[in-house]
Amino acid sequence: MKANEIMMFIDTSKCIGCKACQVACKQWHKLEAEKTVFTGSYQNPPDLSCKNLTVIRFNEHEDNGKLKWLFFKNQCRHCVRPRCKEACPEGVEIDPDTGAVLFNDKARPENCRIPLEDACPYNVPRLNGQGRYVKCDLCYDRFKSSANPIVRGKTACELTCPSGAISTGTAKKILEEARKRLAAVKSNGHPNAYIYTGAFGTETHVLWLLTDEPAKYGLPT
Ligand code: SF4
Repeated sequence: MKANEIMMFIDTSKCIGCKACQVACKQWHKLEAEKTVFTGSYQNPPDLSCKNLTVIRFNEHEDNGKLKWLFFKNQCRHCVRPRCKEACPEGVEIDPDTGAVLFNDKARPENCRIPLEDACPYNVPRLNGQGRYVKCDLCYDRFKSSANPIVRGKTACELTCPSGAISTGTAKKILEEARKRLAAVKSNGHPNAYIYTGAFGTETHVLWLLTDEPAKYGLPT
């Protein structure tokens, strides 16, 4: 990863499950509301879609006979060597300034060797109504082009999160923050806290601090 590239750190120990990040993402990307149904969980919508590029997963877990939620903000990991790009070289680009993985107008099934939802090890890409794949773009444009200093340099979800669970910055800054938070959370009642960087041998631009083992979040290891 180059020194100038952007990383995102999601500290799930601070997440309160309010879903403000979901709404902020929809607002910035001008995505319509989506009708959903109650599935027996507070997780809503139930999964990523072309209208919801990030979703808070409400993993239910029993702790000493009490229900506990393990929140996980699901989204594109912005892999350093993205398998979606291997499957669709013309439709997937890497932004040279931020390292964000971006889908362009050629990201369509007819231009891909295999469907992108299958190529991505995390099942992130979704087809929209115009037959084009979409996903989180790491708000790459807010890191370089916005004239508004409040918006510039922060993703929509980061700016909105009321508990400060999301931060972005250079790899140096983010790795330092992740190490500090891991030590603090481990010594504060979560001995199994874990920095999750993805799976399948993929280096990613997004890191999560989990308060327990990845398997309890239903994550591949
Ligand atoms: Fe591509 Fe999936 Fe990696 Fe995102 S998580 S960059 S969609 S392979």
